[in-house]
Amino acid sequence: MTDWIATDLDSTLFARAWLAEDAIAATWSPAEDSSRTPSSWMKASTHRLLSSLGKSFALVPVTARDLDSFSRVEVEELNLRGPAVVANGAVILGWDGQPDPLWEEHMIAKLASWESTLDEFCAWLIGKSAGHARPRLIPGPGGLPAYLVAKAEPGWWHAAEGKRILAEMDWRGCRVEVLGLELQVLPPGVGKRDATLEVQRRWFEGRPPLLCMGDMPLDLEFMRLGGLLATPMGSTLDQSWPP
Ligand SMILES: [Mg+2]
Repeated sequence: MTDWIATDLDSTLFARAWLAEDAIAATWSPAEDSSRTPSSWMKASTHRLLSSLGKSFALVPVTARDLDSFSRVEVEELNLRGPAVVANGAVILGWDGQPDPLWEEHMIAKLASWESTLDEFCAWLIGKSAGHARPRLIPGPGGLPAYLVAKAEPGWWHAAEGKRILAEMDWRGCRVEVLGLELQVLPPGVGKRDATLEVQRRWFEGRPPLLCMGDMPLDLEFMRLGGLLATPMGSTLDQSWPP
């Protein structure tokens, strides 16, 4: 019987900024040749904690990364290649690290009807934001888009122009969240919580995670499945808690 830990990756375990001499490389830039360049790092202390937890518990990543960018996560001594929630829950991976075909079928049925709407949102944002937002669709199962992401300069989504654009569109029941620099538009059925529950049911005999970690208020939806909740000091989630 394996107990498990569910954890977000970026800004929870990893940072994009280089941290310190003893930081551990965590993700890698897309390789154009055989050279490998780290694209984010983990604090040595976090790495010690996770390697030690990883000896007793399964570490289950719960991430918005798509399959391609998840494949570029590689941290020495950590096994992150068992069950995982990828693409904000549009894809789940089993013990073999491969996309689960049953979940794929389930998500394809949900996402098929959203493909043209997400395309439309994307084109609309390109036209409206005059280059300030850079929308793109994150690939999900069956060649369908899983959700939309639009990055902008710091603060832009919270400034007048960004807010006006968000208010102007009828998002047709999609969940619309601004997470740092990034707008995420998630069709109904796409989310970290449902997918984490499926992982719990399928691979951990229904037992909830012992510990859940995340850095954004939106992560709370899956973090609340677990026994203990943790967030890095200074994270957006930390700052949203009462002082
Ligand atoms: Mg994060």
